[in-house]
Amino acid sequence: MITSFCQGHRLSCAACCGLYNLPDNSRTALQALLEERSARFAETPRTFSGIEAFGASALERLKGSLPLPDFHHCPYIGFIDRLMAKPGCLLHPQSPGNGGRDWRDICHYGGFACRTYFCPSHVHIPQRMLTLLMDATQDWYAYGLIVTRRKTLAYLDRLLFGTRYAEHRSWAAMIEIVRIAIDWVLNWPYRKDEVRDRIHYFFNDAEPGPLLPDGFPDTTMRNPIVLNDCWVEILQELGSTFDNDTQMIEAIGRWVSLSMLPENDDRSGRLAFLSLS
Ligand code: SF4
Repeated sequence: MITSFCQGHRLSCAACCGLYNLPDNSRTALQALLEERSARFAETPRTFSGIEAFGASALERLKGSLPLPDFHHCPYIGFIDRLMAKPGCLLHPQSPGNGGRDWRDICHYGGFACRTYFCPSHVHIPQRMLTLLMDATQDWYAYGLIVTRRKTLAYLDRLLFGTRYAEHRSWAAMIEIVRIAIDWVLNWPYRKDEVRDRIHYFFNDAEPGPLLPDGFPDTTMRNPIVLNDCWVEILQELGSTFDNDTQMIEAIGRWVSLSMLPENDDRSGRLAFLSLS
């Protein structure tokens, strides 16, 4: 069965709609905001003017506060299930109260963009990795923060399914490894700006920041075994900014160490590490 990246059985994502582009994008704050918004939308008349007024008032509350002002935060992101556990589009025909009518043409990008946009993870991450990720992820908040990080997921996929030692790991063991990785993505210690880096702007015009301070004598950068392009991309994707190259090596070592876990005390990690490029 093909699993959807955007809407799974238990989890869903709305990262490309700007879900995390808010001044407080902690789990508690987003849960509260989406619950409140969904409850208000349930009371909103399903008319063009009613829905438009709802969106305008939600945006008015956020005016001037978006950490990335050019990245639209859609005011119609809410919870689309009764348990308040799956974020999604309140204008979607299958959202509660819409009676099958598609209202997405009202939103900022228009219905066509909403219906046809799929983030790069869709083409870069295999279904086996998505299934594992869905099994390993605790909730929507963590899921949306990792599912768009395709470089990191591609590394995990290579590590868990691509090495010749992969068959020695059980599914449960792989879940444990992915959970460690998710925890690192959520609490990555090398972020300088937690709020902005959580947003993870992954569109084509994204300009990743430097990994090291200007003028740092980056001997690591000159050693392609330690730092090839793949590691640069993964570290940037995580929102890393290091004070020095010792920190950078520690960060790479962390991810490499995942391959030693558990049931696997051989050298597969180093093989995966060295064959990344
Ligand atoms: S960021 Fe990707 S997975 Fe998430 S809702 Fe958008 S297209 Fe779907």
